Amino acid sequence: MRQPLVAGNWKLNGSLESVSALVSGIRAQMSIVRDTEVAVCPPFIYLQHVRQLLKGSEISLGAQDCSDQAEGAYTGEVSASMIREFGCTYVIVGHSERRHIYGESDAFVAAKFAQVRDNNLIPILCVGETLEEREQEQTEAVIARQLDAVLKHSGIGAFGNAIIAYEPVWAIGTGKTATPGQAQQVHAFVRSRLKEQDERVSGLIRILYGGSMKPENAGALMQEEDIDGGLIGGASLKAEDFIAITTA
Ligand code: PEP
Repeated sequence: MRQPLVAGNWKLNGSLESVSALVSGIRAQMSIVRDTEVAVCPPFIYLQHVRQLLKGSEISLGAQDCSDQAEGAYTGEVSASMIREFGCTYVIVGHSERRHIYGESDAFVAAKFAQVRDNNLIPILCVGETLEEREQEQTEAVIARQLDAVLKHSGIGAFGNAIIAYEPVWAIGTGKTATPGQAQQVHAFVRSRLKEQDERVSGLIRILYGGSMKPENAGALMQEEDIDGGLIGGASLKAEDFIAITTA
């Protein structure tokens, strides 16, 4: 049985004041959340603050990214071991904004994934196709390429404690959501790709959907067999919407 996970990716949003209000809003409504794990991923600079605010709650903490390097002369980078020191459980890697705005390659994402695993953190590996790739019927080829880069670098065993988020690029922040059927098809493909190498790992791994998930569409998406929760961007910035998704 895979426990659903709903994780909020706050991206480049917030201030000390708004982050505090958001956490207190989420905490105030946690009593209605049942059987679903909840996590929030603030910007690095707020990790310590949010960690304090989450004390005594069951909400997990995650980072939005990490360096592909362990340490050294890499100005501006934050390592997985530093993230670990701040009480995080999860680290998002390969988010489409990192891949497409900052040009992160599959191999670079795979190196980050390995850093996260090496530091006993759980990677949330994002995969997903652009609209153009979908229209050219390249969806499965793109997802396979993104997964294979990590499999090649770290092996199937590394997925034993990892999460995958299927995030079609055309659905992120656009208000367009994949239909439950479209999302399920790709989730099933991801699981089958892993099953080729290890049936047990493929059966246990949680695969989240991300891309304009909101309270109105979350229920139908989460009912699909291979959708084990959500990675939520915009809607995670409003406590009520975020909680409504976790209870969907
Ligand atoms: C995301 O960026 O991970 C995401 C799913 O964003 P949104 O929910 O805003 O589409």
